[in-house]
Amino acid sequence: MKAHDGMYIGGQWRPAAGTDTIAVVNPADEQVIAHVPAGTPEDVDAAVRAARAALPAWAATPPAERAALLTALRDELARRQDLIAQTVTAELGAPPGLARAVHTGMPLMVAGSYADLAATYSFEERIGNSTVLMEPVGVVAAITPWNYPLHQVIAKVAPALAAGCTVVLKPAEDTPLTAQLFAEAVHDAGVPAGVFNLVTGLGPVAGQALAAHEDVDLVSFTGSTAVGRQIGATAGAAIKRVALELGGKSANVILPGADLAKAVAVGIANVMSNSGQTCSAWTRMLVHRDQYDEAVALAAAAVAAYVPGDRIGPLVNAGQQQRVRGYIEKGIAEGARVVAGGPDAPLETGYYVRPTVFADVTPGMTIAQEEIFGPVVSILKYEDEEDALAIANGTVYGLAGAVWAAQDEAAVAFARRMDTGQVDINGGRFNPLAPFGGYKQSGVGRELGPHGLAEYLQTKSLQF
Ligand code: NAD
Repeated sequence: MKAHDGMYIGGQWRPAAGTDTIAVVNPADEQVIAHVPAGTPEDVDAAVRAARAALPAWAATPPAERAALLTALRDELARRQDLIAQTVTAELGAPPGLARAVHTGMPLMVAGSYADLAATYSFEERIGNSTVLMEPVGVVAAITPWNYPLHQVIAKVAPALAAGCTVVLKPAEDTPLTAQLFAEAVHDAGVPAGVFNLVTGLGPVAGQALAAHEDVDLVSFTGSTAVGRQIGATAGAAIKRVALELGGKSANVILPGADLAKAVAVGIANVMSNSGQTCSAWTRMLVHRDQYDEAVALAAAAVAAYVPGDRIGPLVNAGQQQRVRGYIEKGIAEGARVVAGGPDAPLETGYYVRPTVFADVTPGMTIAQEEIFGPVVSILKYEDEEDALAIANGTVYGLAGAVWAAQDEAAVAFARRMDTGQVDINGGRFNPLAPFGGYKQSGVGRELGPHGLAEYLQTKSLQF
């Protein structure tokens, strides 16, 4: 794969300050496909300066012009659809169909939604004798994970640019090539120099320097809870705005009377997609005791269709593979019953894990509490609705979830009592404008749609 050997700073590809590089590995065959520069604090500083210098003019650019540039960016990404999909397959291991439909299609939709929002959003409102101006927060540090290499970038950069902020992006080590393609698209779209900047590098070096930089006004981070906690503390100490999108352990609650076969099939598909590397995945399936055995059999049958290397890709790297296999071993050790899959690697080459279904999982088990980030589903039994609710709400997380019932009203009544940021009712469809983000330790702040845009705005009230 073609990789840039520099950083995209101030509207051009510049040589990195240091000489270290990061190897990019294809997780399906374990081959090195490219090297990208490992940024240093010097690179980060140059990028933040470029973003700061570009801020006044960009913030003063009329929203309609920002919208036109976002439309151009969306079009440049669309022109590169095939290349983006191939790159996501190469560096993340996503099967080609998923890479096209989800990893490329969804970010295009989100980019388009922000082009529309920039043009239509009301950046001014009247409250009594005041006019309230919605102004850009300033220079944004965006630190993104590898699980959705383009979506995670767009979900931060598009609203930031729509709001009039300038950005420095530090993408994940595992998936920098998609981020470089994004920078090329930004450039060709004609976005002014310095409005968007890219520094590739290691989290504890480039990421940390960026999060701690005194001239950054807002840090938007998606990734692990451990790093999120650290970034939140650093930003808090500096009185900087911070948005954190962290882990999840979402519940798929199947109430009696629901279409059990559909609820189980959709629930399994939800977790297996992207090899389980989705923060909002419904990794806990909650089933009434009278339907439990039937649900377990349906789940085991459904998961058999996910053949590693065909319908389901590898995990992103060897570390994640080891981590997920460790969780499967822990589930067995704590007394859960494997009804599909298991801890052994299904293929000799590539970071694959067997799609795994656990039955007889109790709420206190590690696999019912911690984010596994792999193709592993835990099926839990509940006695009645109160019990189901206690189990659903019984983790430190609260990012997403699903409720299935005979009628939407019953599902909605249950969803109102869930401590979580999103709930799909009877298989509701993805909405790129719906706010996405966590309750409890799943995070702070919201992404997507107008709520995502508001994260990058601060208010100024003028009294008359
Ligand atoms: P991570 O939190 O280490 O990495 C996410 C991003 O943060 C990357 O760009 C990384 O370079 C950067 N980073 C790492 N250390 C940093 C630091 N000290 N300062 C600033 N930036 C830093 O996540 P990971 O190791 O890639 O994944 C580990 C686990 O995190 C996964 O198993 C999963 O549970 C969770 N995760 C969640 C999401 C999500 O979408 N919420 C995405 C990826 C991973």
